[in-house]
Amino acid sequence: MAKTVLVSGGAGFIGSHVTVELISAGYDVVVADNMSNCDMTCFEGVKKITGREDLPLVKMDFCDAEAVEELFTTYKIDAVIHFAGFKAVGESVYEPLKYYGNNLTSFINVIETSRRHGCENILFSSSATVYGEPDKSPVTEKSPRKPATSPYGNTKQICEDILRDSVKAYPEIKGIALRYFNPIGAHPSALIGELPRGVPNNLVPYITQTAAGIRECLSIYGNDYPTPDGTCLRDYIDITDLAKAHVYAVRRMLEGKMEEEYEIFNIGTGKPVSVMELVTAFQKANGIKLNYKFAPRRAGDVTAIWADPSLANKKLGWKAERTIEETLKSAWDWQLHLDKTLGRK
Ligand code: UDP
Repeated sequence: MAKTVLVSGGAGFIGSHVTVELISAGYDVVVADNMSNCDMTCFEGVKKITGREDLPLVKMDFCDAEAVEELFTTYKIDAVIHFAGFKAVGESVYEPLKYYGNNLTSFINVIETSRRHGCENILFSSSATVYGEPDKSPVTEKSPRKPATSPYGNTKQICEDILRDSVKAYPEIKGIALRYFNPIGAHPSALIGELPRGVPNNLVPYITQTAAGIRECLSIYGNDYPTPDGTCLRDYIDITDLAKAHVYAVRRMLEGKMEEEYEIFNIGTGKPVSVMELVTAFQKANGIKLNYKFAPRRAGDVTAIWADPSLANKKLGWKAERTIEETLKSAWDWQLHLDKTLGRK
């Protein structure tokens, strides 16, 4: 019988792509989401891509312990992938309690309820933000975590710690934290992708909205960094590649292949790409001239960070495959799909 994976926050950007990959790998999936930062677009897209009209979507809040209990009573869950959390760095600075309250409470509820219901496997969506400004890149999982520069970043660190300490104390559960670098792009079908609310904070949605004429001009934040072209370096990971990493990680847990009760993996390409290089690649991949200008540095940005993904390559058997051009083409296809179908322009 197929194993059932619960995807909390599964109607959002990363969760919807992960749901698609889990279903195509043969897992049963239960999507649960409070819909606080998304609409039905991606969930409908997932149903179309997978042909699974009956895919369950439970609208619920993971901060509501009773609702989580009910969910685990209704479905026999074998593994949980936890995405449900707030993620706006800037907002977290102004509303720290909203971030600590939501992101920590929801995760504690997931762990508690998993234990009670015999669900052994918990995967947490962490972030390269835990490395802060690293002393050197590429960063390995052993590179030091730096003090978080925002409450959002701090919730990622604390949730990692909650998982680490819980699996140590409670032998009935085990956990994996995946540290994502910069997820970008969209599913090749262009039926699911990123849906930023309001003005995008992240680079690629800002680029696609500028190309679509929704935004006038992209500001490149800083061209005086100590990098080859003066703009920041990041590790941009294709969303479909990133989603597949979850399938490998879940399989590792379900098949009892974990070597320790808590494991951490970097999910990135291992290749640094500058903001300027990304802008150039977007223009080339899509035959578009982008309106951009250089602007002052953005507060809080790290100069350079990219992954050493060799642990994930080796232990999970996973590797990033899509080229940056393919990824940036998919991002643009998704923007065109949105403009056409939702009249968002
Ligand atoms: N960036 C930019 N213009 C934008 C948004 C982002 O130049 O409108 C730069 C940002 O300064 C950083 C990189 O793009 O160097 C990636 O930023 P993003 O917010 O996408 O991810 P981060 O790595 O900051 O989490």
